[in-house]
Order: sequence, then structure tokens, then C-alpha cells
Amino acid sequence: DTLNRPVQTLRVKMVLLGSSGVGKSSLALRFVKNEFRSTSPTIGCAYLTRVVHLSNVSLRFEIWDTAGQEKFHSVTPLYYRGAHAVLLVYDISKRKTFVRAQLWLRELEKHYIPGSTVIWLVGNKEDLAQNRQVSVQEGERLASDRGLFFMETSALSGDQISELLLAVAHRVYECLG
Ligand code: GDP
Ligand code: MG
Repeated sequence: DTLNRPVQTLRVKMVLLGSSGVGKSSLALRFVKNEFRSTSPTIGCAYLTRVVHLSNVSLRFEIWDTAGQEKFHSVTPLYYRGAHAVLLVYDISKRKTFVRAQLWLRELEKHYIPGSTVIWLVGNKEDLAQNRQVSVQEGERLASDRGLFFMETSALSGDQISELLLAVAHRVYECLG
């Protein structure tokens, strides 16, 4: 029975990718502390951690955030090597970040092993709907064309943040199991 069964904890590497300013660090802070700060949160270490409990397993997420390297296009494949999950983030109010996400995707597809990494296309800042430059349908279409999962979030309001993390946890567990 479940009371006597030791709960297994699996380590999950989750990497945040996307243009500077799309809200990667803000998403990381939401995942880990459920907080939002209007000034860019600075991550003082390589990754942040958060444990997510599913019914019969616990996943210890190591959340890797690119600390400004994205500006110089210097994120190496080493950064996402071994990642179980990649969140490819764009800002729904800035079309060029969506275009850029497609370039990241092309890079990613050169290196990742299908079936061992789940990739999520994440349209962040959905609270800025009045300034929307990328429709939900465009996001969904890109995701379905490339075999990605898709979600729109707001690190500011917290909308869809726990849903996203839980959905990633379930998919990663399916891949690992
Ligand atoms: P990063 O460069 O991708 O790490 O982006 P940051 O997390 O530093 O966020 C860049 C800016 O966007 C900051 O001023 C954040 O406060 C703001 N920001 C982040 N997420 C959201 C969001 O969901 N909605 C809105 N309106 N602003 C956000
Ligand atoms: Mg950042």
C-alpha cells in the first residue's frame, strides 16, 4: 500500500531558453517561490530547485536560467545537454521574440534526442493581451507543426504557472518511466 512504499525522487533538469526580456527569470522565480518582482530577478547560482509531487513519485526540478548570455547568442549546447525539459519562451507582445524562438528551436533540434526531452513552447506575458502581436493560434500551430507542447502564461499574474509546471512534470515522468 502507498503508506509503506518509499517515495522515489527523480532529478529533472529543466532549461529556460528564449530572447532577453521575455520573462525567463520571472518564470523561474514564480516556479520556485511563487513571487513576482518588477525588476529583473538575478539568479545567483547555476540553477534553482523546486520539488513537485505527483501521486507516486517526487520530481526535483533543477531550473536552469540563462543569465543574459542570450543577448550574445552564446548559449552552447552544453547548457541544454541532458535536459529533460526545455521551456522555449517568447513574449506574446513582441513578435520578434516569437521569430527568435523558431531560430532557437532549429538549434535545439540539432542536438536534442527525440523522446528524451519534452519541449514546451511558452507564450509569456499573456496579461499584456491588449498589446498582443502573436495570436494563440499561431503559437498552437507552431507547436503542433514541430511536435511541441504549448501554453501561454503570465509570470506577472501567476496565471498558468502551476499548471505548466505540473504538466511538464507529468510529461517528463512519462518519458522517464
Ligand atoms: P528574461 O530576460 O527573459 O530573464 O526576462 P525577465 O524575467 O528579466 O523579465 C523581463 C521584464 O519583463 C521584467 O521587467 C519583468 O518584470 C517583465 N515580465 C516578466 N514576466 C512578465 C509577465 O508575465 N507579464 C508582464 N507584463 N511583464 C513581465
Ligand atoms: Mg533573465
